Amino acid sequence: MSLTIYNTISKKKETFTSLLPNKVKIYHCGPTVYWVQHIGNMRAVYFADIVRRTLNYIGYEVILVRNFTDVGHLTGDNIGDADTGVDRMQKAAEREQSTPEQIAQKYIDIYNTDIRLLNTLPPTFTPHATEHIADMIQMVETLLDKGFAYVTPEAIYFDTSRVKDYTKLSHQKIDSQRNGSGHGDITNTSKKNATDFSLWFFATGAHTNALQIWKSPFVSPLVKDGIGFPGWHIECSAMSRHFLGDTLDMHLGGIEHIPIHHTNEIAQSESANDTEYVKYWLHNEHLLVDGEKMSKSTGTSYTLDDITAKGYDPLVLRYFFLQAHYRSKQNFTWEALTASSVAYKKILLFMQSDTVFGTVSEEYKSKFTEAICDDFNTAAALAVVHELLKSTQVSDSDKKATIRDFDIVLGLGFPTVVTQIEIPAIVKDLAEKRVVAKSQKDWELADRIRAEILELGYILTDTEKGYHITLK
Ligand code: AMP
Ligand code: ZN
Repeated sequence: MSLTIYNTISKKKETFTSLLPNKVKIYHCGPTVYWVQHIGNMRAVYFADIVRRTLNYIGYEVILVRNFTDVGHLTGDNIGDADTGVDRMQKAAEREQSTPEQIAQKYIDIYNTDIRLLNTLPPTFTPHATEHIADMIQMVETLLDKGFAYVTPEAIYFDTSRVKDYTKLSHQKIDSQRNGSGHGDITNTSKKNATDFSLWFFATGAHTNALQIWKSPFVSPLVKDGIGFPGWHIECSAMSRHFLGDTLDMHLGGIEHIPIHHTNEIAQSESANDTEYVKYWLHNEHLLVDGEKMSKSTGTSYTLDDITAKGYDPLVLRYFFLQAHYRSKQNFTWEALTASSVAYKKILLFMQSDTVFGTVSEEYKSKFTEAICDDFNTAAALAVVHELLKSTQVSDSDKKATIRDFDIVLGLGFPTVVTQIEIPAIVKDLAEKRVVAKSQKDWELADRIRAEILELGYILTDTEKGYHITLK
């Protein structure tokens, strides 16, 4: 079965081929660990997990790298190209009267717990940006040597005018952005083009009191020993190269990264490494709440804790995510989550029954594979599950085996074995007494015994062969 993927850079669905046989190298831009990640962020992690599980399902080994950004991501970085604002880690440290290291550890722990509850498989590598400063410095040196970067007293900038197809990922027109004509904010007058971005900040000016700083070989008249910290974009270029080499099969991230962060990653990596950076660019759309952008100020920046506090299993949220295509916006409401809960429990109950697992239905497996291999169409894949449940052609035990197989991709945590319940002797005795009562046509006694068994917490059902006992 071939996998088709919508590639942001070509704006087309393409048939996937891996660089190495049966192995796929993926980089996923991870969280900036200064706050509890909301359920929108969780949608991004869930999506990377679906990509990885689908590749596993069709026979690939996956090497997934997801970083933790624990330095250098300024508050202005996501919204413009101006390298403005303060470091998010520093802001959080001041807010919580703590250190950036403690902030990072605290929020990494919460994040790891949350993504485990969502049943996402752990990445192969989870580098922290602060552990790879040497890799970043080395890449900046290469860019300086090749003339793609220039030094100012405040920072080292990447010269975007040196790159031919700077906007090839976003397909935006660049001319209107250059030289400050209408877009961008050249806060530093020594910056040559509005779209130039910082590779290294010297600990001067707004960053004089930066809490996380390192020595570097770079020279500024304003600081000693080149002291400063890396720009956010160089972090991903350096870490992906460290673990995955110059060219990756796939790079994932949220759509807001297309025009700036990922555009800048391409510019840096391709200029430094002289080769194509990424074969397939995949971007997930955002989650909305009540039709609006998620926001702390309106109280809609829900976290997984908010979901569980209302009594929902985290896997209900995963089921909810599965119902939409990753390239569509998805609207979260509590009503929609309740509907997901009902649908999820219906399948869960079926999978928890004590019917044994039979064999996988090849017909349904091929329908499911076709759906998920069509650019990860999880909604269509879920529809196959429901169609299978309704089928009168497939036995219950084969249905169970088939859904267990699909769960390799869906990740809904369905049972993989039949759990045999231990029936207490007293219940067994009562059941045998009821057999005698029935043989004597004493229906009243038989009903009474059944009620007694129910009171003990078990359900007795008559079957063709005798009876069957399950937990209430
Ligand atoms: P951040 O910590 O802000 O860098 O975000 C971490 C990840 O979550 C990024 O890949 C974002 O693209 C993604 N993200 C942020 N907000 C949303 C949202 N509302 N829906 C889906 N993904 C989001
Ligand atoms: Zn990144």
